[in-house]
Amino acid sequence: MSGKPLQDDCFVHDKDRLRHQEALAILKERLSTVAGTETLRLEEALERILAEAVIAPRDVPLTDNSAVDGYAYRHSDHDEAGGFFRLQQRIAAGQTDATALSPWAAARIFTGAVMPPGADTVAMQEDCETHEQDGQDFVIVPQGLKKGANCRKAGEDVPKGTELLSPGQILRPQDLAAIASTGQAEVCVYRRLKVALVSTGDELRRPGEAISSGGVYDSNHFLLRGLCATLPVEIEDLGVLKDDADLIGATLQDAAARCDAVITTGGASKGEEDHILRILDELGKRQIWQLAVKPGRPMMFGTLGRCAFLGLPGNPVATMVCFLLYARPVLSTLAGGPFLEPRGFQVPAAFEVPKKKPDRREFYRGYLGTDAQGATVAHKFLRDGSGLITGLREADGLIEIPEEVTRIKKGDPVKFLPFSGFGIR
Ligand code: AMP
Ligand code: MG
Repeated sequence: MSGKPLQDDCFVHDKDRLRHQEALAILKERLSTVAGTETLRLEEALERILAEAVIAPRDVPLTDNSAVDGYAYRHSDHDEAGGFFRLQQRIAAGQTDATALSPWAAARIFTGAVMPPGADTVAMQEDCETHEQDGQDFVIVPQGLKKGANCRKAGEDVPKGTELLSPGQILRPQDLAAIASTGQAEVCVYRRLKVALVSTGDELRRPGEAISSGGVYDSNHFLLRGLCATLPVEIEDLGVLKDDADLIGATLQDAAARCDAVITTGGASKGEEDHILRILDELGKRQIWQLAVKPGRPMMFGTLGRCAFLGLPGNPVATMVCFLLYARPVLSTLAGGPFLEPRGFQVPAAFEVPKKKPDRREFYRGYLGTDAQGATVAHKFLRDGSGLITGLREADGLIEIPEEVTRIKKGDPVKFLPFSGFGIR
């Protein structure tokens, strides 16, 4: 690990729960990059976070070249030549020996081939006529082409010296294409963040293990593993831990010494079997606990030494919502990237909520549909239980309802956050 340590001043909160925006503001303010850097070949750099700016070392394209198969000529010759040009040379893509164009001469040219010195315009082959006379080839170029037509100028895509990408940007396929177009083969990116995942609960078993009455299979691990795959993260699976404070404490302390972040699920509330908060308070610094958010109220954030700690609730719906809203921007920021916040849009509700508690923000599992008029509307998954993975699967996004709203009528505008905005489907 390298980079700046996390700020560890404790957030003092009163008994009023922290609001969603306040929690985000705390995270945004207190987090910075912890990941070190490495140099990677472009082949390996997809979805990685850039650590150093990429400056174009040369013009793209490198030279003026033809955008079509056709005939290159000097525009100012056209009228005098009556559009009638002597064919002087043939230039294919990659050919480097084009010679200067003589007056009233044209060059047969192909897409991507270097423009011969003196030529400034290309007529498409479909618009030209050629013929031979006394062993000499001629081409008749139509009137009306603008000077520069069908000619790509050196540097018109990227001029030399342009800052193509800046640190913190996530490398997309089109970014890698742009870097490749400048001839650069490597980029300096942040190392993958080391993230430990821990599931807690006496009742939990891993899939494949035997189970008896009261047992619950650990689905959160697979949920989090998949969600983490949308970030430059290396996962360390610490398995399932019993609700045993000493065991959990020792495991977390150990993991914190070698990881950039630890994420637990379960045991985050105030019950006697919930140990995570006490462990965080004992071994580290608590910065956030108890949000005015549903689902996800007991979510906590803090630090264990230099390691970021996220204690997510155990119910899978709360685990997923908390990951998307809080853990995702936390991990992205620690990894050198942006504080990822979803971009939503307003759509009319296709559902009703007669009574919603004020003062807390709610996130429903939702999906888009169309009404009778063909307009896009948001549906809400009907059952509210936060243990229902079915709702997460039926959804293609979250519906975000702010604190002050106390009822929703059909047709009311609601904010829809598509899963695609969180990097998942
Ligand atoms: P807790 O936050 O520990 O009180 O757990 C809340 C609910 O989530 C309980 O019904 C747990 O059995 C369930 N739960 C906790 N952890 C997991 C997990 N890893 N996978 C599936 N369900 C879980
Ligand atoms: Mg539990």
